[in-house]
Amino acid sequence: MIRYVSNKGGGTPVDFETAILTGKAPDGGLYVPTSLPKISKEQLKSWKSLNYTDLAFEILSLFIDRATISSTELRKLVDDGFATFYHPERIPFYTLTSKKDIIIQELFHGPTLSFKDVAMGFVVNLFNFFLKRRGEKMSIMVATSGDTGPAAAYASIGKETIDTWALYPEGYITEEQERQMTTIVAPNVHAVRVTNCTNGSDDLDILIADLFADESFQKKMKLSSVNSINWGRVMMQTVHYFYGYLQNVDMVGEPLNFAVPSGAFGNLCAGALAREMGLPVGKFILSNNENNCLQRIFSNGVYSREKVINCASSAIDISLPINFWRYLYFVIGQKPEKIKQWMEEAEKGTKIAFDEKTHQQFSEGFLTASISDELTLSTIQKVYATEGYLLDPHAAVAVAATQHVSDDLSGNTKTLCLATAHPSKFPDVIKKALETKDLPKQATHASLEKAKSYCQKIYECSFNDMHTTLSATMQANTAYRTKA
Ligand SMILES: *Cc1c(COP(=O)(O)O)cnc(C)c1O
Repeated sequence: MIRYVSNKGGGTPVDFETAILTGKAPDGGLYVPTSLPKISKEQLKSWKSLNYTDLAFEILSLFIDRATISSTELRKLVDDGFATFYHPERIPFYTLTSKKDIIIQELFHGPTLSFKDVAMGFVVNLFNFFLKRRGEKMSIMVATSGDTGPAAAYASIGKETIDTWALYPEGYITEEQERQMTTIVAPNVHAVRVTNCTNGSDDLDILIADLFADESFQKKMKLSSVNSINWGRVMMQTVHYFYGYLQNVDMVGEPLNFAVPSGAFGNLCAGALAREMGLPVGKFILSNNENNCLQRIFSNGVYSREKVINCASSAIDISLPINFWRYLYFVIGQKPEKIKQWMEEAEKGTKIAFDEKTHQQFSEGFLTASISDELTLSTIQKVYATEGYLLDPHAAVAVAATQHVSDDLSGNTKTLCLATAHPSKFPDVIKKALETKDLPKQATHASLEKAKSYCQKIYECSFNDMHTTLSATMQANTAYRTKA
């Protein structure tokens, strides 16, 4: 039986269903499997010709007991999670014609046009599946730096077992992202605009943690989260590393690099776990914007919290890379007491200087770069001018980072740059980069045009008193659940 424990070591081991529905472990830690499955080269080879959903089924089967979800049910959950994708291949690739060693992995063909859809559809389906079976209902809360909220809101449409509350910081996300949440017509989906956030979505993460800690509220509302603290998100994201690898190497066993625009480290944590499972990764290129918390951790061995600044690649404007602690748990050989100490220091805002051995262990195989807005924009411009291919600001950060570290990449290894959003979500950045008022066709999307023709439905509150106002609003909205 596959068991899950908190990376901080508290509580007792739980089954997969509990780990998913609880989101965060009761001791404030992150759920991790007691061990990671190991995948041999032979097994990898046998997966080479699988399409994305078939591969997802194989990999997820290693983390989920048949007694919890039968194969037929798991198949259906996976297929349903990707049925709404706009591209028949789900996750296609594009090789830069001007730089053949750079391949773009397009993770943005889901219903809300960001890589968050890759895991979210599946995880929300899982919630609905478990809750239906139990005859229960829950409230899901997510804070968003722009893309998690739309993905969670969209995935929740028509799911009668959950109410979803998507909280976003005013002024930190694009109008397109906002409209993706506020124009959804579904009684169980609620968009909350929060004014006066000084640290973007990090502020909202802290507030949600407060609400979760309020025991009577938590009991009444049955709160959970589908932020990347939820194991289901990270687990599902391991798949696109295996898929990207198998689709792009000539021979299984040769190394492939991955460049990942990173904020909360959920995506890259999944990649690092895939490497632990046996994926032959060359280098990871950790790509930050000017909010370079992760870059400082990996290159200097120092964790410290800085103020969040607004960048062109706004979805990675984050200073709390929570999933780093999940990765660290495995890479230092599962020492929960150490993780507990560090996580608690980080929560207090204490600066942490990792000892040399730990720093060496976790930074093995990682290259890092912090990319300025100026370079982000010029990368978008250059690639578009040379080959008519339009990068979104986050993919541009990954491409720029790859070029920045190119001297440290060995000879003829190829790099997969993870394109995490569709450019149409960031029209203002694209206009600025291309120095034009008219967006090229690649910077538009029919779904976003459609969203402009609806009224917006928004709850608004101020960060300053939102613990009180939001909890009252949530209770009033879900009062029907307790009525006889
Ligand atoms: C969320 C997001 C990221 C960062 O992913 P993490 O898992 O938080 O590191 C990168 N790009 C886009 C477009 C995103 O929405």
